[in-house]
Amino acid sequence: MPAFNWTCPHCGRDQSVVDQKYHDIAVPINVGGSAEGNVSACALAIGCANPDCKKTSVWFSVRRNRGFNSNYAVNNDADPLYHRRAIPTSSAKNQPSFVPEPLVEDYTEACLIRDDSPKASATLARRCIQGMIRDFCGIKKATLAKEIEALRALVDEGQAPAGVTHETVDAIDHVRSIGNIGAHMEKEIDLIIPVDPDEAQVLIELIEMLFEEWYVARDTRQRKLAAISKIGADKKQLIADGRAVSNALIPPGNNDGQAGV
Ligand SMILES: [Zn+2]
Repeated sequence: MPAFNWTCPHCGRDQSVVDQKYHDIAVPINVGGSAEGNVSACALAIGCANPDCKKTSVWFSVRRNRGFNSNYAVNNDADPLYHRRAIPTSSAKNQPSFVPEPLVEDYTEACLIRDDSPKASATLARRCIQGMIRDFCGIKKATLAKEIEALRALVDEGQAPAGVTHETVDAIDHVRSIGNIGAHMEKEIDLIIPVDPDEAQVLIELIEMLFEEWYVARDTRQRKLAAISKIGADKKQLIADGRAVSNALIPPGNNDGQAGV
C-alpha cells in the first residue's frame, strides 16, 4: 500500500499512514443476485502513530464491486451505499473548561449528527455561533445576520473585545456566502433550512476557529498577564522587605537551583 497523509481524529496529529498501521477488510455479500450488483461489507481501521495517542479509528461501509485490495485510502469511493466512521463517533474536539458549557454542548452535538442530519447540525452550529457572539462580544439582536453586522461595526470602531479582529469577522462573512448558510443567518435561529453535510462542516470549523481565537486566546492572554503582574508584585515585595539583591552579588552556583532556566 502506498503511504498516504492523514490526520488522526482522536488527537489531531497529521501523519503518514504506512502498512503496519492500516487494516482493510472487504467481505463479499452473496444474496443470490441483487439490484445493486456485487456488494461487499467493508471495515477499515487506522492506528494512530502518535505514541501519546495510539488510538484506533474505524470505518464501516457497504460498497459495490469492492474486492480485496481494490483501493486503500479513506473515503476514496465516491458513491458508497453506506459509509460511517464508527470510532470515534464524533469529530468534536475536546474544549477547555473555560468555554461556556452550553456552547460546547451545541458544538459537540452538531459534530455528532453532521452526517445523519446536516440540517439539524447546521441549526445547532448557527445557535452556537450566535451564543458566542452574545457571550463573548455582548451583542444581542433579532437575527444572527444583524448580530454579525453589529460585530463588524464594533470592530470598525475599534470597540470590539480583545481578540475579535477584522479577520475573524471576515471569516464569519465568508461562511455566510456559502450555500444556504447565509439565508440561515437571516432567519429565526430555530428555523431549519436544508444544507448538506459539507455546509454543516464549514459551520463546525468556524466554531472551532472562534473557540480558539476568542476563548483560548483570551485565557492565554489572561494567564500571561497574571504571571507578569505576579512577577511585578513579588519584586515590589522584595524591595519593600529590603531583600532585593543585585544579581551581580549572587556568587556562581548559589542561585537557588535555577541554573539553566
Ligand atoms: Zn491520534
